[in-house]
Amino acid sequence: MRKFFDRWGVVCALAASVIVTCVLRCSNATTLSWTKTFVDVCELFGKVFMNGLKMLVVPLIASSLICGMAGFGSRAECKRLGLKTFLFYFLSCAAAVLIGLCMVNTVKPGRVDAALAGKILGQANVLPEHFVGINAESTAKLSDFFLRLIPTNVVSAAADNTQILGLITFSLLFGFFIGRLPNALRDLQLRFWEGLQHVIRDITRIVIAFSPLGVFGLVTPILLNAGLDVLKPLSVFVLTVLAGFALYTFGFLWLLLRFVGKIHPWAHYKAMFPVTLTAFSTSSSAASLGIALDTVERVSKVSPRTARFTLPLGITINMCGTALYECVVVLFLAQLYQVTQGIAFGFWNQVTVVLMALLTSVGVAGIPASALIAITMIVGSVGLPIESVGIIWVAERLLDMFRTAVNVFNDTCGTVIIARTEGEATAYERMK
Ligand code: ASP
Repeated sequence: MRKFFDRWGVVCALAASVIVTCVLRCSNATTLSWTKTFVDVCELFGKVFMNGLKMLVVPLIASSLICGMAGFGSRAECKRLGLKTFLFYFLSCAAAVLIGLCMVNTVKPGRVDAALAGKILGQANVLPEHFVGINAESTAKLSDFFLRLIPTNVVSAAADNTQILGLITFSLLFGFFIGRLPNALRDLQLRFWEGLQHVIRDITRIVIAFSPLGVFGLVTPILLNAGLDVLKPLSVFVLTVLAGFALYTFGFLWLLLRFVGKIHPWAHYKAMFPVTLTAFSTSSSAASLGIALDTVERVSKVSPRTARFTLPLGITINMCGTALYECVVVLFLAQLYQVTQGIAFGFWNQVTVVLMALLTSVGVAGIPASALIAITMIVGSVGLPIESVGIIWVAERLLDMFRTAVNVFNDTCGTVIIARTEGEATAYERMK
């Protein structure tokens, strides 16, 4: 029963969410006062669950990376794992962007007839208020990424969900130099951080146990409030993005798992199902870190040494789904402007989009909707009107769920593939 609950609890919650939404919508009960109270209660459950997940992010990242770095037997071991990790992240992200580029140039979702393009662009000025806020706060320069790598204050970096990069740099350095301390001092430090890690892991398990309730609370209000009608004018664009995600996840990653990781890909897809569903429902890579770590260690049998180095890094800087999405969105907008106003968008502009998507995705925070900031940067840098980003807002929530699932699933693939090259992830041994 416990096993069934672990594996299918979140799926049952999603199914219940769809059923409840259908019943309420079909009986026209969405405007009744008790429905509103019901939505409020759901939102409360969802928020409490999200808070629980977010609460774990800072101690998980800090303790995992510090233990990971400090635990390396030698400098060579540290270099080897670091190199493999960055190579995987760079190549997989490049592949994701290229898949996005091919999809958008083949399907051409923005090459609709002029009337429809005008209708879609007509919404361009309705940017949601808080989005304008984020934009004004501005991570508008690429150089900001490098500034965020070295925080002026590590405590305030840890306190800010969008500055996790600074915490990562600090934790990597801290762990590295613990490893270089004299034995007595090093053991003392290691015991402290390992103890902390165990405690956080136990707390993570408690939060995970509430995931079906949390997922129900997160998804039901979205389905009830938005419905799927709003997506109609953008349907070809939405389908292009989803097809890109599918090609990347079930094509490219499948090949990597099979031929580089030398495992049966299906075993990994199955094992990571609960992790992917959590990422999907929370739209936050950072919030999914605890569950991802727990699953790759417990189910896939990746060693803590590998998992705690590659996953926190991946969750923070490796956003393949987001990179693919950025590329499709910007070229989609360019196509719309081509149809309505004849703005040409040449080869070098496409190259700029590809490079910018690669670079900016690294700095995107693992929280909901943060890709919009990066997209605004790219749109501005290729000379398209920044207001146009507002038109994708209607599809944003749904696509954020999918791209976060791709982001997190990709990180787990990276971890397992690297672990296999280190002779780990023994759970897949039998299913080569
Ligand atoms: N929500 C995404 C994540 O957490 C980031 C984004 O693409 O907006 O991975």
